[in-house]
Amino acid sequence: MTVRTRVAPSPTGDPHVGTAYIALFNLCFARQHGGEFILRIEDTDQARSTAASEQAIFDALRWLGLGWDEGPDVGGPHGPYRQSERSEIYREHAQRLLDSGHAFRCYRTPEELEQLREALKSSGEQRALKASDLELTADEVARREAAGAPSVVRMRVPETGRCPVEDMLRGTVELDWSLVDAQILMKSDGMPTYHLANVVDDHLMGITHVIRGEEWLNSAPKHKLLYEYFGWDMPVLCHMPLLRNPDKSKLSKRKNPTSISYYRQKGYLPEALVNYLGRMGWSMPDEKEKFTLPEMQAAFDIKRVSLGGPVFDVEKLSWLNGQWLRELDDDAFLEQLQQWLFNREHALAVIPHIKSRVETLSQVVEKAGFCFGDAPAITENSFVHSQHPPEDMKEWLQYLLWSLEALRTWERDAIFAEAKSLADGLGVKVKDFLFPVFVAIAGTAASFSVVDSMALIGPDLSRARLRQAIEVLGGVSKKQGKKLEKQWLALRSEQADQAIDDQ
Ligand code: GLU
Repeated sequence: MTVRTRVAPSPTGDPHVGTAYIALFNLCFARQHGGEFILRIEDTDQARSTAASEQAIFDALRWLGLGWDEGPDVGGPHGPYRQSERSEIYREHAQRLLDSGHAFRCYRTPEELEQLREALKSSGEQRALKASDLELTADEVARREAAGAPSVVRMRVPETGRCPVEDMLRGTVELDWSLVDAQILMKSDGMPTYHLANVVDDHLMGITHVIRGEEWLNSAPKHKLLYEYFGWDMPVLCHMPLLRNPDKSKLSKRKNPTSISYYRQKGYLPEALVNYLGRMGWSMPDEKEKFTLPEMQAAFDIKRVSLGGPVFDVEKLSWLNGQWLRELDDDAFLEQLQQWLFNREHALAVIPHIKSRVETLSQVVEKAGFCFGDAPAITENSFVHSQHPPEDMKEWLQYLLWSLEALRTWERDAIFAEAKSLADGLGVKVKDFLFPVFVAIAGTAASFSVVDSMALIGPDLSRARLRQAIEVLGGVSKKQGKKLEKQWLALRSEQADQAIDDQ
């Protein structure tokens, strides 16, 4: 048997360090067994998946040296490797389950589902919704079908008992069937859910070992059942511990940059980032801290993964990166600098913005430094403004951050449009609204256009600097964040109404 592993990211945002972490362990496991490593794109959530995000995943994983043997861009004998191109396969498989009686069509409306859940709750029963709760009489089904009511396909799930799941790191884990719902397999728009598509693809792509994040452990009973329903052997499962923030909460961009592109832009070496990810819950047999990907592959043993949540600590990563940089000879160091941002292409992108603002070449360093390194250090005083208190500016920065996190295309006009509509909605002059943005991005309002700056330094650094500025201004507590989010959503719906009126 050839060992085949895969990483299966969803292209719905920035390429996440968690994706690289899982890819790394899948790659090492496959290589250690002389096997194959596959990249599959799980883009069934069509509203949130984008081609740009998919490309960013390819670029980020390749930059890290975590290449794949089969995938959407390199092809292979088990393609297509993009789930959006496999709809017909999922439809056939859902039909198989309907025909065998392992799945049923569910016509329940969202309101009915809500009522059923409420009824369960008030009866004090702690269990999930099952087919027996959801199925309607044949007459009612016929009536709804005739009326063109939408339906989904759900799987049947045992009502009681325990489901043992084997996990490479945990041994046998028992989960309660009563808590597992009659999972939707096909949505009303004809697209599969993660569970159906993932199981069907792992089988058809010959995946032998599923190494994925711990957050999927609770889905394992459903998957096991689907393998049984189809009459297929299940791959070996291995759930990796979740990466954590230093305060032990699940790694989140609110507390730590999580985008691989951010670390690339900040000037971390790919070797150092891979090295650091290799130390997340794993260690070399001789416990050495600095090692290369080939060294890790040669010494790899998945049994050495420990389950205590590994902490992704940017300070430790920076320390390790420093070790890597220090060991480069001067030529190699220069080479890294050039590959990073000290190159013609980046300089040519910066020059048009500063040419008219300098009188000597030496001033370039001061005017454009923030396009290469970090923004100059800022304090609360940097935000002093004659018209607006810093507390308001913190809110604006948070609104803009959310708008820019939702922005699909990172280019100057789109960035400006977001800022302008927020400023309009708040009744603030755009110039004033952009003042704290200047400080956050360039360290001073006396810089060239801040939207150009943001376009230039890219989404990852821009958002990180906005986050940093919000922290400098005192940060946003969870409670305040909730309140602000409501106001931001209201501001956005006003914009939407305005856009409709303008048509
Ligand atoms: N698309 C899932 C994710 O985003 C894949 C999970 C799995 O590996 O099964 O992580």
